[in-house]
Amino acid sequence: MAHPDLSHVVDACRAGNRVDLSEHDPRETFGWDKDDAKDAVEDVMDDVSTLQQRLFADGERAVLIVLQGIDAGGKGGTIRSVMAGLNPAGVDVNGFGVPSEEERAHDYLWRVHAHTPELGQIGIFDRSHYEDVLVVRVKGLVPEERWRKRYGHIRDFERMLVDEGTDVIKLFLNVSKEEQRERLQDRADDPEERWKFRMGDLEDRALWDDYQVAFRDAMRETSTDDAPWYVVPGDRKWVRNLVVATILRHHLRRIDPQYPPAEDGVEGLIIE
Ligand code: ADP
Repeated sequence: MAHPDLSHVVDACRAGNRVDLSEHDPRETFGWDKDDAKDAVEDVMDDVSTLQQRLFADGERAVLIVLQGIDAGGKGGTIRSVMAGLNPAGVDVNGFGVPSEEERAHDYLWRVHAHTPELGQIGIFDRSHYEDVLVVRVKGLVPEERWRKRYGHIRDFERMLVDEGTDVIKLFLNVSKEEQRERLQDRADDPEERWKFRMGDLEDRALWDDYQVAFRDAMRETSTDDAPWYVVPGDRKWVRNLVVATILRHHLRRIDPQYPPAEDGVEGLIIE
């Protein structure tokens, strides 16, 4: 079995300050084939699992994965795929929907900050503070002079998280308009999926181009070396899952968590 070459994937998906979504094909396969990619994802997740155990034992750093994308963009499926290889005790998943009254009574970072992971943990945000420069911008929920300043707040906030021990990995699930159409249609057709369909999803779909610009600008403004954005090819789930696993492994390897030393006398101990 040919193992996919993963060496260039992290760089290929990285979105810098000049990211252009027309250069990121949602149907990208990196030349992989589906069966080999499905085998490879298990190997990568085995590494991730060992690294997660060390991250937990070490307790010096945390990882926050921020997931953003359009409706039916695969956030839920991505979380299931990553979670399948991890020890659930070390993972904390939080979703952020329309803010509650209490949340609206605070600044927009308040609710997310309360859920950043503890040291030793991997936190996953299903939507995040980026909604406050995405849906809020596209729907004009606050004036431009307010949302524009948020890019700077977000850079500072994430810089603080990194400085204080939490690595931030931001993933944009890049799905094509046609793929979204198919997924929404399948949702509407399937009695077991229909409950997920919101008529509001169609309003957002009609604003497709505005959302693409908002995603692009958010990535351009907030991609930093410490808290990089990645554009993940999202149309093919098996590509997406292998890319996400590879990016997570890359960051965990960079952290290089270590097991704490054993207590004196444990090494070489013989228990009668
Ligand atoms: P999902 O679509 O992620 O499965 P929901 O159906 O609960 O989850 O949708 C969450 C909705 O909340 C989305 O339409 C999203 O745009 C909206 N939302 C999230 N954050 C904010 C925010 N800060 N302000 C306004 N709307 C928000």
